[in-house]
Formats: sequence, structure tokens, C-alpha cells
Amino acid sequence: MALPTATGAAQCPECFADVTLTKVMQNEITQCPGCGAELEIVSLEPLTLSLAPQEEEDWGE
Ligand SMILES: [Zn+2]
Repeated sequence: MALPTATGAAQCPECFADVTLTKVMQNEITQCPGCGAELEIVSLEPLTLSLAPQEEEDWGE
């Protein structure tokens, strides 16, 4: 069974560049070609990007 994918463009929440996505799945991580931020596909319909959670180790501070 094929997982649902989407192809299209979405806007980077960091620099507002258009990011072209090809056959991406929900929760997939991609990188913005404009600012290099790691972006998570949070929705396929419509294609929506969110900044991916940073794996920093300062949670306990
Ligand atoms: Zn960006």
C-alpha cells in the first residue's frame, strides 16, 4: 500500500521562500533551499511546513 504523498509548493515559515516538494509524506523532514532550516511537513492538504523541532540538549537548563 502506498502512503499518501503530495507534490507542490509550500512556504517556509522561517524565510517565506517557496519550497518545492515532490512526493513528500506527512511528518517528513525537508530542508529549506533558501535559509537551510529543517522543515517538517505537518500537512499534505494543503501542503504546510513547520520548523522541525531542534534536537538541542539544553532542555534541562
Ligand atoms: Zn527558509
